[in-house]
Amino acid sequence: NVRRVAFLGLGNMGGPMARNLVAAGVRVSGFDPVPEAVEAARGAGVEIAESGPDAVRQADVVITMLPHGRLVRSAYVGAEGSGAEENAEGLLDAVRPGTLFVDCSTIDIAEAQDIARLTEAAGFAAVDAPVSGGVVGAEAGTLAFMVGAADEAFARAEPLLRIMGARIVHCGGHGMGQAAKICNNLMLAITQIGAAEAFVLGERLGLDPQVQYDVMSQSTGQSWAVNVNCPVPGPVPASPANRGFEGGFMGALMAKDLGLALSALNREGVDAVLGRTCQRLYAAFAAGEGADQDFSGIIETVRADAAS
Ligand code: NAD
Repeated sequence: NVRRVAFLGLGNMGGPMARNLVAAGVRVSGFDPVPEAVEAARGAGVEIAESGPDAVRQADVVITMLPHGRLVRSAYVGAEGSGAEENAEGLLDAVRPGTLFVDCSTIDIAEAQDIARLTEAAGFAAVDAPVSGGVVGAEAGTLAFMVGAADEAFARAEPLLRIMGARIVHCGGHGMGQAAKICNNLMLAITQIGAAEAFVLGERLGLDPQVQYDVMSQSTGQSWAVNVNCPVPGPVPASPANRGFEGGFMGALMAKDLGLALSALNREGVDAVLGRTCQRLYAAFAAGEGADQDFSGIIETVRADAAS
């Protein structure tokens, strides 16, 4: 019996997610400081508010889809002491009793847990629900949601998430949605660089890439990085390697997620030689041309290093 959702952060992901809620008949009030994001959302039927707090006053559920954790935290509690008058009121001060908070942003695990504690201390239920599936999944309503929440809060959030996603997994308590996402992307980075190294070695050895693909994709080297996101053009026509690594999952976002993985590795004292190496490689990749290329474009770095 959700009557009204407030949606904060109407960017690349939040814009189409909010649009899908409207299309399913949910009343959505939204806010974003960027005029283009606001205009697109207004056109899709989102009722635009003057500020974050104004967007949430009548809401039953508040969804945030923001670039990083500091912004989520300051939106929730208000930018106290920052001197920014207009941000002084936090969302936690502006909502009605019983409002559910769902943060879909990808943020640090410990920070998500901290934000959930603050939310509960203010008397509200909190859910972390980061996504995978990218802009394409957001537009199609086929995102995968990885959810960290108590059972009751999960049950309240799930019907809404189902409108925006195809796969909703309850991963555990607070922060476990973020934990599942970060562990998956750590593995993904390692396998994508592994695929790049294998194909570059194959090239050096004179192995036909199609033959190499036929072998690896059917044997123990098979993986999403080879079978779907194949880093050489040809064997998988839909992979970004066939279009100069345009589109797909941007290097900048992989670098961001690996930064979050690195802080979790450090906090937990986990060694992870490969994960730390991938984090360094993707940070360098994203600092250059790779920022807005698909992350499988890292094969060009591997190839250049092999040639030097
Ligand atoms: P984006 O930069 O396109 O959108 C974020 C929006 O939040 C911007 O429009 C910004 O103006 C707005 N914003 C900032 N502060 C705000 C505030 N206080 N109140 C309301 N709005 C505010 O980013 P995105 O690509 O939509 O990503 C959002 C989140 O989703 C990130 O955490 C990202 O890591 C994660 N994510 C992105 C993808 C992807 O493919 N883009 C995939 C999975 C997860």
